[in-house]
Amino acid sequence: MVFAVLLALLVTAVPAQARDPLSVRWEPKAVRQGDVAMVFVTGLPDAKTAEGSLAGQPLAFFPYGDGYAALAGIDLEARPGVVAWRIGAIDARDRPLKASGRLQIRARKFPVQRLTLPREMVELDAATLKRVEEESKHLRTLYATITPERLWRGRFTKPVGVPDAGEGFGARRIINGLARAPHAGLDYSADAGTPVVAANTGRVALVAEYFFPGRLVVLDHGLGFYTLYFHLERADVADGDRVERGQIIGRVGASGRATGPHLHFAAHLRQTRIDPALLMKLKLPE
Ligand SMILES: [Zn+2]
Repeated sequence: MVFAVLLALLVTAVPAQARDPLSVRWEPKAVRQGDVAMVFVTGLPDAKTAEGSLAGQPLAFFPYGDGYAALAGIDLEARPGVVAWRIGAIDARDRPLKASGRLQIRARKFPVQRLTLPREMVELDAATLKRVEEESKHLRTLYATITPERLWRGRFTKPVGVPDAGEGFGARRIINGLARAPHAGLDYSADAGTPVVAANTGRVALVAEYFFPGRLVVLDHGLGFYTLYFHLERADVADGDRVERGQIIGRVGASGRATGPHLHFAAHLRQTRIDPALLMKLKLPE
C-alpha cells in the first residue's frame, strides 16, 4: 500500500516531457467557457494516427502540417477549473507515443438578458412541452453523430451580410421574470428575407420546423462540428444536400420563439456549445 502510494507520487512527479517525445501545443493555453481551442501534435511527419481526449471527451484529430490537429470545444456552462487531456499517436515506425497534461478553464462573464414574451411562448401546455422535449432530444442525438471526415475547410464565415456583429452568446436569460437556459448562439438582427449563408462547407443534417427555433437548418461540418441557423423565413436547402461556404441556405425570418426578424446562429462541437464569434476568428487550415 505504502509502496503503491510512493510509486504513484514518483510517477506523477516525472514531467510529461521527460516521459514522451510527443510534442503538443494548445492554442490558446488557457480557455474560457464557450471557447474553441485548437491542439496541435507536431514533429510527427507520416504519423499513422492520433487520438486523445479532453476532460474525458474524445478529440477528433485530422492531419495537419507535420502532424495532427484537433478542435476542442469548452461548453458555455463548463465548470471553471483544471481539466486533464491526454493524446496518443502512432508514428511512421509504428511506435506509440503519448502525452498528457492539464488545461485551465476560466470563468467568463456573460450578460444577463431580461425578456418579456407572450405567455403561450413561455408557459407551455403538456402537449407542447412534450414536443419541445422531443425536438431537443432529436437535436442532441444529431450532435452526438460524428461524421468521421472533416468537411469544413478554412475559416468559418459570418452567416449573414449585415454590419451587426451579433450579440447575446451565453446570456443568462430571465424570461417573464424566470431564469431560463442560457442563450447558446449569436443573434444578428437583419431584415426578413436577408440571405443566410453556410458558415463553412458541409452537409445539411436537418431542415425542420421546431417550436422554439422555428424553421431551422443544421449543417454537419464533419468531425462532430455542427452549425445551426434558427428562425428562418424559409430554407433553401434539403436534408443531405452538400453545401459550400458562402452558399445561400435560407432567408432570415421570425419563425419560432422570436421577438422580431433575426438570425440565431450557433455552433456545437461534440455536444459543447461554443461561441460562434470565436469560431469565426480562428485561423483554420484549408
Ligand atoms: Zn437567439
